[in-house]
Amino acid sequence: MPDQVGHDVIPGLTGNLKRKDDMARVVVLGGAESGVGAAVLAKVKGFDVFLSDKGQIKDSYADTLRKWDIPFEQGQHTEELILNADEVVKSPGIPGTVPMVQKVKENGIPVISEIEFASRYDSAKKICITGSNGKTTTTSLIYYLLKNAGLNVGLGGNIGQSYAYQVATEHFDYYVLEISSFQLDDIRDFRPDIAIITNITPDHLDRYDHKMENYVNAKFNITRNLREDDCFIFDSDDEITVGHLSKIVLRCKMLPFSQEKELEQGAFIRENKMIVRVDEEETDVFLESLALGGKHNVYNSMAAALAAKATGIESDVIRNSLATFKPIEHRLEPVLSIKDVLYINDSKATNVDSAWYALECQKRPVVWILGGTDKGNDYSVLNDLVREKVKGIVCLGVDNKKIHEAFGGMVSRMEDALSAREAVQKAAAMADAGDVVLLSPCCASFDLFKNYEDRGEQFKAAVRNL
Ligand code: ADP
Repeated sequence: MPDQVGHDVIPGLTGNLKRKDDMARVVVLGGAESGVGAAVLAKVKGFDVFLSDKGQIKDSYADTLRKWDIPFEQGQHTEELILNADEVVKSPGIPGTVPMVQKVKENGIPVISEIEFASRYDSAKKICITGSNGKTTTTSLIYYLLKNAGLNVGLGGNIGQSYAYQVATEHFDYYVLEISSFQLDDIRDFRPDIAIITNITPDHLDRYDHKMENYVNAKFNITRNLREDDCFIFDSDDEITVGHLSKIVLRCKMLPFSQEKELEQGAFIRENKMIVRVDEEETDVFLESLALGGKHNVYNSMAAALAAKATGIESDVIRNSLATFKPIEHRLEPVLSIKDVLYINDSKATNVDSAWYALECQKRPVVWILGGTDKGNDYSVLNDLVREKVKGIVCLGVDNKKIHEAFGGMVSRMEDALSAREAVQKAAAMADAGDVVLLSPCCASFDLFKNYEDRGEQFKAAVRNL
């Protein structure tokens, strides 16, 4: 902190580091949202900051760094400017295995994540959400609930502005943070008041040596510092989550949610209602009043309601909020109905599980657009749903071989497309009145698009141009 300049030791810095020169040096690796946020926070707290990115830094981030007078480099990592750090903040996009990070570690310099760094300067209550699917939806729902309850709350992490940037520039009593497993990789003392794992299914295994166990451990990092009064909200219908819980001891308050069984504490279904029970307090919500459709969103609504209830929010606010929340873009987003064919943009479905839920909640015959960069998908879990609901498939990707092999024998029509426009036109030709054309790709988008948002935007534009 600026007022600490001149002391020998900076409280909060790992291991009570001694200053080398005048100020302790924090080097940030990676110059995007979280890296730039961490650099700004380090600057505000009076550290000697330097940011290094091996790639190109986006203009808007470079402008922010200049505005805050933070020295940086791009297109290279200069060892002399990095290995003199007292601590390195690593952006979540950089794998721990890259040579520069290895070198930093070999030199005995602690490597931490942006959320770890930011949490040292933040006393707000934190509700943190991780999981394979449903993070953004659940995070946004909880933020909406807390806002509606009149709380002074910030939204961040993987959504919008980084947590660190907000800690540097705002003051909130609560934070609702979406946290990816990459962000959890390098935490030490980071502690949420309420931690949520929405579910765990295989995703991003490439970053975890293709070992599911490593990925599960990374997600469970969110619970590592929970104390007795903290809450852990989790899906007790999820075998992987429950399996892992049987191997560890958590001393916090456990709040499971389930659509399969009634629970003493947590959220569950009774007849046509969701029951949310925390301690002696109970709130019931009619399932048909939920704004978000689909079985997966019942799970997300349960997790959100539990977080709200554990925060002490009144039943009426919970009911109203769950009933009035607006669907988020690119997540089962209805686009248009043309000749009684409904076009749905679920571009954010970048893995098999999310596409499973998208197909599961369709009531009408589906023409399904899928494909892109395969992340080692096992498509066989979709077989039953495809046989039951899908009448035609359009593969939208550079290499569609695996999809042809997986579903070729199950649907009567299958075509390839190399652009959103071509995919929409081919899907429209397959669809009859009363059908749905669903973009729910199961895959990342980088072979043909900038990102999933770009894919979703191009899909929507193509639908509007039909
Ligand atoms: P995340 O932030 O974890 O990627 P999103 O809320 O953005 O999750 O949703 C990503 C995709 O997963 C969307 O296609 C959405 O419809 C689907 N989805 C949302 N919630 C769940 C859930 N609880 N289980 C499975 N799929 C889900």
